[in-house]
Amino acid sequence: MFTPLKTSMLGRATENGLLEINIINPRDYSKNKHKKVDDYPFGGAQGMVMMPQPLFDCIRENSLQNSKIYYMSPRGKLLDFAKIKEISSISEATVLCGHYEGVDQRVLDEFDVEEISIGDYVLTGGELAAMVLVDTVARMIPGVLSGEESALEESIYSGLLEHDQYTQPRDFEGTFVPEVLYSGNHGLINLWKLEESMKITLERRPELLRQFLEDENNWSGRSKAEKKVMEKYLQLL
Ligand code: SAH
Repeated sequence: MFTPLKTSMLGRATENGLLEINIINPRDYSKNKHKKVDDYPFGGAQGMVMMPQPLFDCIRENSLQNSKIYYMSPRGKLLDFAKIKEISSISEATVLCGHYEGVDQRVLDEFDVEEISIGDYVLTGGELAAMVLVDTVARMIPGVLSGEESALEESIYSGLLEHDQYTQPRDFEGTFVPEVLYSGNHGLINLWKLEESMKITLERRPELLRQFLEDENNWSGRSKAEKKVMEKYLQLL
């Protein structure tokens, strides 16, 4: 299930010692002779609930209670940039994946577990959600992204949605890369990127553009030309 964490950029980050991911199977801690981890919910609802015993033992035997424990759950607070930054600042975290109907509440209460949701929809298990969390937190660790890429220069994190991207060739089946991008004029290129970002953000997420333009920090260090386009977009809001 967790193969994606071992490949590509996360795999490299692990090899380089920037990241360590331990996958623990609660079934290995079940005291039941059939290695059962779930049972019928009290109150007669449908589905199954993960029992406390395997999870308590799994947490205690691995001393996971010494780390912050998160439980992936549609009842949780939505995973956003602030939460991602918070998690990336701690050295060790435990991510509990539910299955079936979820986990016995006593696990969450005993270990002061924080519930986190990745969106307003319901998955069959917490594994995919946990991988989303691990992936996005890992990108914040210095060195995980290759070369000069910065985790903060992306859509959302920069405060705006990103401009369109182009690569070779300049002419593909009669469609062209905007000329400015290969003009070599970095001032003009940055101006184009800023204006395109603001255009797309205005169309798709105007509330983000408002926030961006109302934040003084985003105006400092800008060229005259950049300030001029920003003023134009302030008028358009
Ligand atoms: N009965 C639960 C849903 C269980 S879904 C409820 O109504 O709240 C099964 C498991 O998938 C959950 O235990 C959780 O770990 C995971 N999951 C489902 N949707 C999720 C979401 N949006 N975000 C994070 N985890 C989710």
